[in-house]
Amino acid sequence: SARPRTALNECVKVVVRCRPLSEKETLEGYDEVVQVCPERGAVRVLNSKGQDKVFTYDAAYDASADNQTIYDEMVRPLVASVLDGFNGCVFAYGQTGTGKTHTMQGSPTDEGVIPRAFRHIWAHIENAASPDVTHLVSCSYVELHLEDVRDLLAKDGKKLTIRGQELNGFYIPEMTSVVCKSAAEMVRVMTAGARRRAAACTDMNEHSSRSHAVFLVTVEAAHKHTHVIRVGKLNLVDLAGSERQRKTNASADRLREASRINQALSSLGNVISALAENSPHVPYRDSKLTRILQDSLGGNSKTIMIANIGPAQYNYDETVTTLRYAHRAKAI
Ligand code: ADP
Ligand code: MG
Repeated sequence: SARPRTALNECVKVVVRCRPLSEKETLEGYDEVVQVCPERGAVRVLNSKGQDKVFTYDAAYDASADNQTIYDEMVRPLVASVLDGFNGCVFAYGQTGTGKTHTMQGSPTDEGVIPRAFRHIWAHIENAASPDVTHLVSCSYVELHLEDVRDLLAKDGKKLTIRGQELNGFYIPEMTSVVCKSAAEMVRVMTAGARRRAAACTDMNEHSSRSHAVFLVTVEAAHKHTHVIRVGKLNLVDLAGSERQRKTNASADRLREASRINQALSSLGNVISALAENSPHVPYRDSKLTRILQDSLGGNSKTIMIANIGPAQYNYDETVTTLRYAHRAKAI
C-alpha cells in the first residue's frame, strides 16, 4: 500500500498468536498449515495446493509462546501506562476454539493476561506505597450480546443502558463497580462474574462464543496534599467468536445473530484501523462495544489486539479470514 510507515500509530499493536495442534487434532492426523516467524512478526499459511500467503504484524507468536511471554512483551507496557493514568484495551479476537479465553483467563498451569494484570497492578501499588498516595482499584464486568449489555457483577445480572453521546462520551450509569483490595480479590470478583455469565445459559461454550465479555479495572491514585487524582482504566475484552455461520445448518435467528456479531467485530476493526492510521474520523458510534470503550480507544490510550488462530488444515479458511482482519486493523 502507499500508506507512509511513519503515519502508523504506535499506541495500537496488533499481534497474532497461533495455538498448538490439540491432542484430538494430532490424533486425527491433521496437517499444520501455519508457520510463524516470530523474528519478523510474520505468519505464513499454506493452502491445499501448497500456495502460501504471508502477513506481518507488530508481533507473531507460535505454540512455544506462553501467556507469560505475551504478557511481558505486549501487555505489561500497556498496564504500566494504565498505572501512569492512561487508558488501555486488550482484545482477544478469533474463531471459537483458537485460544481467546486461554489468552485472557488462562489455565491452571498458565495464568492468563487478566490475572497477570491484577498481580502487576498490586505489585505496583505495594511498591509505590507512600503515606501521601492512596490507591483505589475497582472492577466492573459486563457482557454484550446483540443489543443487550448485562451487568455480570449484579446479583440479577441486570440489563444496563448506555447513555451519553459521541461528543461528550458514552457511559453506563448503573454499572456495578466493586472496590478490591488485592489481586486475589479481583480474581474472586472475575470468577463470580464468569459464573453468573455461565448460569444464564444452557451451553456456556456456545453462549460465550456469541457474546463479548469486558472486564474493566479502574486504578485511581490520589495525592493527599496536592489532591491530584490520576485515573487509568484497563479494559480486558474476550470477544465473541469470529467464525462465519454455515447457512445450511443455522436457523434464521442464528443467522441474524451471526450477522450482528460480524458487524460488531468489523466495526471494532474499523475503529482500530482508523486509530492505527491516525485518521481524523473514528467510527465509535457504529457498535455498542466501541461506544462503551470509546474513552479507552484513541487519544493517549493504548490498544492491543491479539488475533488467535489454530494451525490445522481444516481451519484454513477461518485462519485466513482472521489474518486478513488483523492485517486490516493495522497493516505493517
Ligand atoms: P476460545 O476462547 O477462543 O474459544 P479457548 O481459549 O477455549 O478458545 O481454547 C480452546 C482450547 O485450546 C482449550 O482447551 C485451550 O486450553 C486450548 N488452548 C488454546 N490456546 C492454547 C495455547 N496457546 N496453548 C495450549 N493450549 C491452548
Ligand atoms: Mg472462549
